[in-house]
Amino acid sequence: MNSCIVLDGRKVADESNSKLSLKASTLEKQFGRKPCLAAILVGDDPASATYIAMKEKACESVGVKTKTFKESQDSTTEDILDLIESLNQDNKIDGILLQHPVPKGIDELSCFNKIAIEKDVDGVTTKGFGNIVMGIDSFGSCTPLGIMRLLEAYNIDCTGKLALIIGRSQILGKPMAAMLLNKNATTITAHSRTENLDELLHQADIVVAALGKPNFIDCRKLKKGSILIDAGYHPKDKCGDVNMSGIEDIVSAYTPVPGGVGPMTINTLIYNTIEAMEKRINV
Ligand code: NAP
Repeated sequence: MNSCIVLDGRKVADESNSKLSLKASTLEKQFGRKPCLAAILVGDDPASATYIAMKEKACESVGVKTKTFKESQDSTTEDILDLIESLNQDNKIDGILLQHPVPKGIDELSCFNKIAIEKDVDGVTTKGFGNIVMGIDSFGSCTPLGIMRLLEAYNIDCTGKLALIIGRSQILGKPMAAMLLNKNATTITAHSRTENLDELLHQADIVVAALGKPNFIDCRKLKKGSILIDAGYHPKDKCGDVNMSGIEDIVSAYTPVPGGVGPMTINTLIYNTIEAMEKRINV
């Protein structure tokens, strides 16, 4: 009998969304308004527009309001900083999301860092990241936090496990490593200059693939009985970063693509936005 567990992000996200929907409606009854996320989309990147539309739809379905600001491709850093400042000051905005990536001429990090920490529901500020590393309560970046929440939903204890994170981006690999370390995993972060990836893959108890290359890792290189989290998503190829052929004979648990990490990312954005409203009004 096959004992491999599918870490069903869609199911866990749906269950969580039902609970969040109740929370949002209670908040609305109590305080006369829905939790509200301000989403900023700069420029005309079609993928970014699609991500924003998905987030709007998901928020709406649980009773979280979104206010989307579509800014032109030739916006300046100053324009975006001014917009963020006005949203920081707006008492009816609980969370601020600046869709990554912004057009080349804009200093993205400065814009991220302008977001008030209590409204940084996408976990993109340097301060928020520092807090996570220090183990201080803060909104975590949505994809790694969503992965941690998925592991928790399946009662997966990371203590003592060797976790290999492949990718070191600010929004995914680095905070992922910090979150796993905070849960007592022994962590290794690999990147494009890592020389012995195959050896590491063979040793790791948990592998988080977050390198952004379709089917790049052959799942046959994973340790027998390990746990695979594939954070990659390539809509064109309809796959993640790992070639999953034969996966169920190798690992003890894995996230499917699609339906694994993606739904948890959006659910975590909603989760953080509701928590931001609760914290700001001291529920
Ligand atoms: P990114 O900023 O492009 O970072 C990719 C990382 O992978 C870099 O650190 C890079 O190393 C490393 N890398 C590249 N080639 C490698 C190789 N051959 N071996 C080892 N490491 C390698 O990407 P990202 O924004 O973190 O996203 C990663 C993936 O996750 C993408 O597929 C993206 O679509 C997906 N994603 C999914 C969600 C979701 O909700 N499901 C959300 C966000 C991202 P260097 O630093 O050395 O260049």
